[in-house]
Amino acid sequence: MSDSDVRNVIIIGSGPAGLTASIYAARANLKPLCIEGFNAGGLIPGGQLMFTSDVENYPGFPEKVTGQELMQRFRDQAVHQGTEIITGDVTRVDLSKRPFEVWALDVEGNERFFKTKTIIASTGARANYIGLESEEKLKNKGVSACAVCDGAFFRNEDVVVVGGGDTAMEEAHYLTGLCKSVTLVHRRDDFRASKTMQDRVTSNKKIRILYSHVVEEVLGVEEDKVTGVRVKNLKNGEVNTVACAAMFVAIGHTPLADLFKGQVELHENGYVKTVPGTTQTNVPGFFAAGDLQDWVWRQAVTAAGTGCMAALEAERWLSANDPH
Ligand code: NAP
Repeated sequence: MSDSDVRNVIIIGSGPAGLTASIYAARANLKPLCIEGFNAGGLIPGGQLMFTSDVENYPGFPEKVTGQELMQRFRDQAVHQGTEIITGDVTRVDLSKRPFEVWALDVEGNERFFKTKTIIASTGARANYIGLESEEKLKNKGVSACAVCDGAFFRNEDVVVVGGGDTAMEEAHYLTGLCKSVTLVHRRDDFRASKTMQDRVTSNKKIRILYSHVVEEVLGVEEDKVTGVRVKNLKNGEVNTVACAAMFVAIGHTPLADLFKGQVELHENGYVKTVPGTTQTNVPGFFAAGDLQDWVWRQAVTAAGTGCMAALEAERWLSANDPH
């Protein structure tokens, strides 16, 4: 199709939600266009699973599969079913027009402009940081939000992981396979991670846990690389330095909803609002799937499930509203 044709459906994002929506929309003969993103919010095509090591909980893979391989399989299947994929970042959408309008910057730097009857938004979420100036200055110089991406740079070094959820447990455990030691810093006495993940961490002798501690400062700005972190014990106010070569931040995510702000209803926490049990938003023909609208489950399999729902809902919406 050419850029000037009015599309049935444009899918924005290429994580499990976007690519599952692509597979279902292609099979429904909607000739979907998926704009997979290449730099949005630091994400790369394939979404957050590209930053994950082994995926052991995606059904159908009794032998573990890497996040990258799983997403490559999703993508191959979407293409095989007839999805057109463009590598590019969507820079703007106009949901006040019918058909909707979508602008994107492709990987060669060309601006692309599309019109579409429906949109499935599946831009996902990105990692949060603590918000310290020193942390910002040392990003990619020892401060990272992805152990799988950057852990190998710190082989046989001491590292710190911040957070108390499943991601922090997963990252801490993963890093013990590479690094000399891991200090896990968590602001409370209890982890919110699942029991299995907690057990994996508490039984790992290479992991030291600092409960009720926060990172006050990342050290090493002058040296231009992380040399340690200054931590504060919230129980007694004591301040200490932990020498380390890297700090991995694993403190949750923010939905990538900026494109849609002011055009579609959002929850107070910034996630796109959908009618419960559906992927419908308050804008007819605009559907949201995956982590962009889900801060509770956030699993590849649930994201894929809502991607499927979105494609089927888009198909039904087109049949009802655009029968030709
Ligand atoms: P999360 O569950 O929201 O946990 C975030 C952690 O960061 C919490 O422990 C929180 O502390 C802490 N935190 C938040 N803001 C902080 C700040 N400013 N300073 C210090 N600490 C801060 O996020 P997640 O671990 O990324 O997990 C997200 C979802 O993905 C969860 O549903 C999780 O189960 C799922 N997940 C599953 C797997 C798996 O099954 N293999 C792996 C990874 C993630 P508090 O506890 O005090 O709030």
